[in-house]
Amino acid sequence: MEQTTGGAAALPTYNLNPEQEKKEIVRHYRALLRALRPKLKKGDKELLRHAFEMAADAHKTMRRKSGEPYILHPIAVAMICVEEIGLGVRSTICALLHDTVEDTDISLEDIEREFGTEIARIVDGLTKISTVMDTNSSQQAENFKKILLTLTDDPRVILIKLADRLHNMRTLDSMKQEKQLKIASETVWVYAPLAHRMGLYNIKTELEDLSMKYLEPEAYREIAKRLAETKRERTRYINEFIRPLKDKLQNSGFNFEIYGRPKSIHSIWNKIKKKGVSFEEVYDLFAIRVILDSPQEKEKEDCWKVYSMITDEYMPSPERLRDWLSNPKSNGYEALHTTVMGPQGKWVEVQIRTKRMNEIAEKGLAAHYKYKEGSNDEDRFDKWFGQIREVLTTQDTDGVDFLQDFKTSFLAEEIYVYTPKGEVKMLPTGSTALDFAFAIHSAIGTKCIGAKVHHKLVPISHKLRSGDQVEIITSNKQKPSEDWLNIVVTAKAKNKIKDALREEKRKIAEDGKYVLQRRLESIGAAYNQHNIDELVQFYKVPSSLDLNYRIATKQIDLKELKDFQVLGDKIEIPKPKPVIPDIAADPSRQYSRKDSELIIFGESSDKIMYTLAKCCNPIPGDDVFGFVSVGKGLIIHRTSCPNAAQLMANYGHRVVKTKWAKNKEISFLTGLKIVGLDDVGVINKITNVISGDLKINISGLTIESREGLFEGTIKVFVHDKEELEELVLRLKSLQGIQSVERFDAETVS
Ligand code: MN
Repeated sequence: MEQTTGGAAALPTYNLNPEQEKKEIVRHYRALLRALRPKLKKGDKELLRHAFEMAADAHKTMRRKSGEPYILHPIAVAMICVEEIGLGVRSTICALLHDTVEDTDISLEDIEREFGTEIARIVDGLTKISTVMDTNSSQQAENFKKILLTLTDDPRVILIKLADRLHNMRTLDSMKQEKQLKIASETVWVYAPLAHRMGLYNIKTELEDLSMKYLEPEAYREIAKRLAETKRERTRYINEFIRPLKDKLQNSGFNFEIYGRPKSIHSIWNKIKKKGVSFEEVYDLFAIRVILDSPQEKEKEDCWKVYSMITDEYMPSPERLRDWLSNPKSNGYEALHTTVMGPQGKWVEVQIRTKRMNEIAEKGLAAHYKYKEGSNDEDRFDKWFGQIREVLTTQDTDGVDFLQDFKTSFLAEEIYVYTPKGEVKMLPTGSTALDFAFAIHSAIGTKCIGAKVHHKLVPISHKLRSGDQVEIITSNKQKPSEDWLNIVVTAKAKNKIKDALREEKRKIAEDGKYVLQRRLESIGAAYNQHNIDELVQFYKVPSSLDLNYRIATKQIDLKELKDFQVLGDKIEIPKPKPVIPDIAADPSRQYSRKDSELIIFGESSDKIMYTLAKCCNPIPGDDVFGFVSVGKGLIIHRTSCPNAAQLMANYGHRVVKTKWAKNKEISFLTGLKIVGLDDVGVINKITNVISGDLKINISGLTIESREGLFEGTIKVFVHDKEELEELVLRLKSLQGIQSVERFDAETVS
């Protein structure tokens, strides 16, 4: 009763003579033709033969690492395309030719001449993917972006690439170990999620299992062994579970198949890691699958009938019903999932679907995606590609950011959320009320101040769940702020927020420009490029936009202008005056020189009462300012604090300049957010750097991993910014770490 996932057959050793070898190649090619037979139209056979002969001839002197003739690889890839993905004749031709342009003398022009532009374009896409994927790994995120651009031209490129990768994974044994590790981690990081997103569940599962076999060989072998040991017992249980259901379904006249299917080694391992349980404690080592042979118009009704029969027999868990009949996943998956209480009080997952749905589940929407005919199945797929295209063409972030955004936006599982009018929106898991607001319209998003979920008021950062009905509350006074970027997960919302922030900054900078113009005129100088350049250099800001912006927000007050020399209408930077050594914690910060309002913290300033603002948790070395409060004395904020602009704008007279002195006695709590590739021992490496090498105290550490990626927050006590920067630098240099960012420990406790 138990089915196992398809694995690779052992490679034959190649010590055949040339005649035998030729026969072997032809045998494989004939099998490919047989598999394609139902799809062959007039003239196709000749085209295929031509492609096969061209590829065989081009690769004739080449061998794979296993020793077998190279041409067996393109034939195997073509076979996967036909049998496991359900692609047709044109894709088969592309698969046969997929390595020719890159590895042989055949040119793209040759292919275009022999097979036309459509096939040449796909082969070109496949060639580009392999060349970008082979270059330096630090470039890979950027390359991945390019891959996706190709993919959105024609999805067949990525489907054939997945077949190529699957065959390479199945035959990875003959590669060197370092190559195995590189290919396997790339597979689990990019290709398996892509396969999942394309609806190719079987391929996704096999890619994950094969990757794990190389990346975590011990855990892999252990789980495989345990599964084999418990197989008998499991089969007995499955039979006991199925028996009464079989009778019922037969008596009701259904045509069906019912069987138990083991979960993949990779998914069992994930569960063990995530829940911290042992193999024995993983309750769902298998799922029961019911596949109905129903006419399309009765599919839904029949699935629910079967659901009802099953739950008459076994008690369902109310929280574990998943209805992907009414709302198919965006990758095309349709089914009804439920978890019921089986014999001996064990929870058992049951998946109910029809033959048609099963084909989609196994071969992906590609199985139904009729490239030429233009069927309606394209809609969902097209929509998805459309969204990717939109992001690809508007986003200007760097590669790593992009990859991350892409993974959360497009490869994650989605949730369904409803508008008050019942309209459904699909969002990636982890989306917040703010994401939803932007999904409705960017004008709603930028004005969003909160939401009502099932009539209950929630903040914009509220994480949504499938089935939530959400009403967005807006205010015309609302404006997007920098921290919104941490609240949203969708690429669309991120881009719109960034646009709005840029626009806002530009607007504010206009005021600063006006102030600057007047101040320059008042000392007899002009607002011209030379003077702007001098000031940009003097205040050490990145651009004139930043200069104007900081003037407008009073982070730069232009007091120093009076020290400038004016020649004609040009100003000149004054020569620096000697710096008083004991307050020179950082002599590069020129604005603090000889400033009467300067207050210095640290050893010499014990008498001044001050508190550190909870909103931004400044630490020594940060750019800070003091705010004179009633009753609490001086409150120190970071100049980058979200409240800074407002305080300085409205209470300018109560703002005092402040600066840190060296002080190693007191330590300050601050937080770091770390994102990187999930890998054994990553926590160890991180904690080694923090408490081992740098001897910094950790106050809290959480690590969450998901889809090969981990996200951790660490709260540490540091003495000053220098120490923090050193720590960030050290963490960033660890292998596999993608980003290390500071956050304010207090706000996320
Ligand atoms: Mn290949």
